[in-house]
Amino acid sequence: MPLSEEKNPLMRQHEGASPALVSSVVGGDGDLRVSITTSNFIMVEGILQDEVTAKMESKLHLESAVGIESTLRDEAASKFGSKLRSEVALDLESNFQDETAVNLESRLQDEVSTKFQPKKEMSLLLADVYHELDMMNRAFRVAGCGTFLEYHVTEQEKKLHTANFCKDRLCPMCNWRRSLKIFGQVSRVMNELEKQDYQFLFLTLTVKNCSAVDLSDTVQVLFDGWRKLYHKNGIFKRSIAGTFRSLEVTRNSKTGFFHPHLHVILAVRPDYFCKGFISQAEWGRLWRSCCNLDYTPVIDVRKIKPGSNGLTGAVAEVSKYAVKATDFLKGSMDDMADYVSAFLSALTGRRLCSFTGCFDKVRKQLALDDVESGDLVHVEADELRADLAYMVVRYCWRSGMYVRG
Ligand SMILES: [Zn+2]
Repeated sequence: MPLSEEKNPLMRQHEGASPALVSSVVGGDGDLRVSITTSNFIMVEGILQDEVTAKMESKLHLESAVGIESTLRDEAASKFGSKLRSEVALDLESNFQDETAVNLESRLQDEVSTKFQPKKEMSLLLADVYHELDMMNRAFRVAGCGTFLEYHVTEQEKKLHTANFCKDRLCPMCNWRRSLKIFGQVSRVMNELEKQDYQFLFLTLTVKNCSAVDLSDTVQVLFDGWRKLYHKNGIFKRSIAGTFRSLEVTRNSKTGFFHPHLHVILAVRPDYFCKGFISQAEWGRLWRSCCNLDYTPVIDVRKIKPGSNGLTGAVAEVSKYAVKATDFLKGSMDDMADYVSAFLSALTGRRLCSFTGCFDKVRKQLALDDVESGDLVHVEADELRADLAYMVVRYCWRSGMYVRG
């Protein structure tokens, strides 16, 4: 029997008394009308029974009445069931919120113990190395890095709100924060550029590996080569609309040699692939001539597929921020002192990453601060809304571990 739902004038009066009243059910004959409240199924069931019986006597055959009754009963049960379901859903939701809060709490604890704690331990080791190198101010500053963390926590999320970071170039804690910041900034800029139809290439530019003694000069070769490529090369200028580039220096623990190289994300217009395309071999020639090399350098260039994991991977690659602490905080104290000195000579006074062209334009439009000298506390894209209730959780570094205070 077909059923339709409409408001019953009589039952509208009921609605005044019982706001939970929601609908009436009309039988296929257009006559049998029974309204159902979601708040009082038992009363409705009684009304249904009476009405069905009366109608059954006057109008309908027994079979039809049973059919109607059963349909109405199903409908009422379904309404009641849905009321039940929504109550259950509310309960579940509130349990879920409790669970979310518990999860959030445990995720906060996890973040402090698995992310901050190891970085803090590495930073203390770096402070010892600075002490060994008689760089007392640096040692003092790095030793004090991240001794205080204050989180603001809502029901849904947690955010680091205040912390004391030292911003030293080699500090493992600060470099981790910088890499998060770079990741966030580059992702946001690329999202904007993608909306403007730009496409991206991922370019790695290298020169030959070098010893610690030559590291600073070799990094200078890379930087000079990049400047020439970006500012003076007509082919590059015609084809590339903007770049984000970062320097990375790694150390091969077996050979002891250093490997400085540049990671670059290039923004191109969609017609780049049919107009102004630069082949891998041509990139090699360009880079060789810009760096004045007497050998063909290893370069790698590949297209990043839009919205792909490759995009995230490429951004992660450029976000590593220059150096890995494990490359210089390894071995004896004398070894570490040598590595730290070499890395400092290579990085000090140099701009390790930069935005150019359309990358720079969008970065400015988004009012993103400097990735190197800027804020290392609020490194994620969105901040907590001030009007949300929050609780404050503080951690202090005491006796070799973070203690909740
Ligand atoms: Zn630091």
